[in-house]
Amino acid sequence: MKLAVVEGDGVGKEVIPAALEVLDAFGLDVEKIPMELGYGRWERTGSAITEEDIDALKDCDCVLFGAVTTPPDPNYKSVLLTIRKELDMYANVRPIRPLLSVKGIHDRTDFNYIIVRENTEGLYSGIEEIGEEISTTKRVVTKKGSKRIADYASKLASNRTNKLTIVHKSNVMKSDKLFLDVCRQSATDAGVTHSDELVDSFAYNLIKNPWNYDVIVTTNLFGDILSDMSGALVGGLGLLPSANIGEKYAFFEPVHGSAPDIAGKNIANPLAAILSLKMLLEWNKNMAEATILEEAIDTALNLGLCTPDLGGKSTTSDVGEFLANYIKTRLE
Ligand code: NAD
Repeated sequence: MKLAVVEGDGVGKEVIPAALEVLDAFGLDVEKIPMELGYGRWERTGSAITEEDIDALKDCDCVLFGAVTTPPDPNYKSVLLTIRKELDMYANVRPIRPLLSVKGIHDRTDFNYIIVRENTEGLYSGIEEIGEEISTTKRVVTKKGSKRIADYASKLASNRTNKLTIVHKSNVMKSDKLFLDVCRQSATDAGVTHSDELVDSFAYNLIKNPWNYDVIVTTNLFGDILSDMSGALVGGLGLLPSANIGEKYAFFEPVHGSAPDIAGKNIANPLAAILSLKMLLEWNKNMAEATILEEAIDTALNLGLCTPDLGGKSTTSDVGEFLANYIKTRLE
């Protein structure tokens, strides 16, 4: 496997080395291609990502990505949005499942849902006019874009509990009617039981009763917000992994950002990045390795070996080192 590795900015530079230590422990045949992308590079060279970088990413089988800083500067084009669009990775898959030894806001841990977020259009279309008196962002919903994310979510639902929740705001934003109609049709065609909810009341219902949901499909901005919000249910943003999937490319990254408030201190939780690595292993059909990795993470947490966000005293690199050593011992 040829793997592009992008640490990015801030805590990306700490959590990705920990994830790589874990990957190396498996001794798999992986050619790692390190790439520097992001705000730090922009500050240094005036360019955050180039066409050559996109070609280099496309030349790899998949990408392991840390996080990048995106400043509000209107002249700065988001690296992530660029990559997601250029590699046409339309599905952002964000599993929300509590690790049994970590407490979220509920005592119950019997929930396990997946947010399938449309990743290439909606309010993140990048079509904007920024002015002194008026600024606009165009919200784009296409039939093609809606159908492929709806089909992805319906297929995922049919492989799980056959239950799909479509989240939208079509009462106010009429562009969502197209998204809703296409999702309903896709679910019906796939024989998937489906219902829909307006995003505002859905946010309340999801936080209150997460066990009522399984596969959730929604548009770009709503998916972004709902997945960060879900972090509260599982113990924090340091625990949420994700995969960006397209027809040809796959890209794995923690949900969290570059966390400048804790960057450089070696205290960021690497588990979101390491769980993203687990998704990469599953995508690459390394199922045995993914199972061992999950076992290693459970062992670390049961021993209280975790970073301060989970109440522990370990550093980012301590966690990576423990998991890597556990895996090496397990494989001996
Ligand atoms: P953030 O996700 O970086 O941080 C939010 C909060 O969660 C902070 O308090 C942070 O300390 C904490 N946190 C995040 N990751 C953690 C970890 N691994 N362990 C422990 N705590 C963790 O969001 P933000 O502060 O709103 O954004 C910071 C920068 O990151 C911004 O420039 C933003 O544009 C960018 N961002 C990038 C991505 C990405 O690269 N995928 C995603 C979101 C935000």
